[in-house]
Amino acid sequence: EFRPIATPTRTAQIMKYYDIAMKKSLGQNFLIEPNILDKMVAAADIDSDTTVIEIGPGIGALTEFLALSAKQVLAFEIDARFVSILENTLAAYDNVKVIHQDILKVDFQAPEYASLKDLDRLVVVANLPYYITTPIIMHLIDSHLPFDRLVMMMQKEVAERMTAQVGTKAYNSLTIAIQLQMQARLDFIVPKNVFIPKPNVDSAVLVLERLATPRLDLADLSDFQNFVQAAFVYRRKTLWNNYKNAMSTNLADLSADQWEAIFDQAELDRQRRGESLSLEEFGQLYQAYLAVKG
Ligand code: SAM
Repeated sequence: EFRPIATPTRTAQIMKYYDIAMKKSLGQNFLIEPNILDKMVAAADIDSDTTVIEIGPGIGALTEFLALSAKQVLAFEIDARFVSILENTLAAYDNVKVIHQDILKVDFQAPEYASLKDLDRLVVVANLPYYITTPIIMHLIDSHLPFDRLVMMMQKEVAERMTAQVGTKAYNSLTIAIQLQMQARLDFIVPKNVFIPKPNVDSAVLVLERLATPRLDLADLSDFQNFVQAAFVYRRKTLWNNYKNAMSTNLADLSADQWEAIFDQAELDRQRRGESLSLEEFGQLYQAYLAVKG
């Protein structure tokens, strides 16, 4: 009989048995509702040919649901206490490998991960530590791993930013950083009461699917992201004012005349605000910036 880890009783039992407490500093809020886990597995479209990378298995709530439908699960956990607990809680599954590592320090180009490059299918599924959601996602996108989908639980507001439409309040440089390479969709909202301990914020499950080709052809991604960020430094200021007085030290030091040339070349009205510019328009402005700065 299958008794999921993700129930209030089992989770409390495991924590008591091993005499441990969750660490807020590591974003440890554990899922105690199996329905949510079923929905995450469905969102990732996992079958017996799929390999899953999980970040932060904790005591294994999500991991066991992944193990039940996937070919294999590779779970990266930073907290040594859970690495040994997982050997017991997941003893029934022979297709799970737990790796004691900070995901942000994993070099997926290293030889030990070479086999991840020629799998039938790779996806990433995680209930993320919320305080490092964005660094983790950017690390994975930049890792050159051939996953076709990321399914991740995160703070609702962050999921709304990543899926925002141009012209809305939630739209900012993070929206652009994500949507440049991924198709983003907010799959479902998750209430606070399905976690122990209850977080202070509502959550959502976000699905990111990799685009066949990025929406813009850029030689230097981080330079572009830096350029976009400068447009949002003062939200209430116009694009022109943000750039002309650019606070970002990483932007080239250009004169007002040069910025005028840039805006003319991109054919952009100086009164516009960053949140009104589509990704393609940011692309045009950036190309003009590159051309003028030479
Ligand atoms: N997967 C479990 C669940 O769904 O109940 C636990 C999720 S909990 C929100 C986040 C987990 O990520 C914790 O187990 C925490 O120790 C782990 N974690 C935090 N920072 C990490 C990092 N940099 N690399 C790997 N794991 C991390």
